[in-house]
Amino acid sequence: MDYKHVVVLTGAGISAESGIPTFRGAGGLWFKHRIEDVATTEAFARSPALVLEFYNQRRAQLEIAQPNKAHTALARLEQGYRVTIVTQNVDNLHERAGSTNVLHLHGQLCQARSSADPDLVVDIGYRPIRMGDTCPLGSQLRPDVVWFGEPVPMMHKASAVVATADTLLIIGTSLAVYPAASLAHEAPARAVVFVIDPEAEPGWIPGARVFREKATRRVPLLVDELLGM
Ligand code: NAD
Repeated sequence: MDYKHVVVLTGAGISAESGIPTFRGAGGLWFKHRIEDVATTEAFARSPALVLEFYNQRRAQLEIAQPNKAHTALARLEQGYRVTIVTQNVDNLHERAGSTNVLHLHGQLCQARSSADPDLVVDIGYRPIRMGDTCPLGSQLRPDVVWFGEPVPMMHKASAVVATADTLLIIGTSLAVYPAASLAHEAPARAVVFVIDPEAEPGWIPGARVFREKATRRVPLLVDELLGM
């Protein structure tokens, strides 16, 4: 059977109802922490212990969070479609909900990487990274997270994926962080585009069907619609 390809671009909003704070909104992570203090290479060079602790807390919070109805609905979509999830999130809630094809644009909390060789990545589960934890080369481990100002190595692959979409779902992202946000405009002209975000502006993506609703409410309904249920 020739399954149609659904590409899903997700951001922090899809995990908000799992109790993981978004990026910008009221109560968002960056109201409490300045980006330049915790999410740049300069910050890690200046205060590595503080940066590690910030991500250790995020990882501990992720361990007790659960996938929500939006994550599980997207996993269910694989019953009728080839589905690729391109997520800006560093959590693992898509995988824990059962999605089998997830591309992480900005890295993953449950992995650490060498600060000497970006290709040297190790699984750490929910364990903290401490000062003195080193990679096999002897360099300090850092979170496997793409910080502001760093290149996004997965962009090329993500662009190629979006270019083959028959349907593009954009869920819970302010489309403010580049280059990831540019993906929202890279679907082929034939693709049907849906946006689900309570703050979405109607004109964000020309031609898109826009639902200004929370992910746990609209995503299961849209998945049912796409599966013809
Ligand atoms: P953002 O905070 O800029 O935007 C979040 C969007 O989600 C907003 O447009 C908001 O209206 C929407 N939203 C809030 N609650 C929602 C809900 N219940 N249902 C649907 N939408 C909802 O986040 P972003 O665009 O993903 O910003 C990108 C950066 O934030 C990424 O680099 C990402 O790595 C990082 N981040 C990730 C996580 C995570 O892994 N869960 C959490 C915070 C930040």
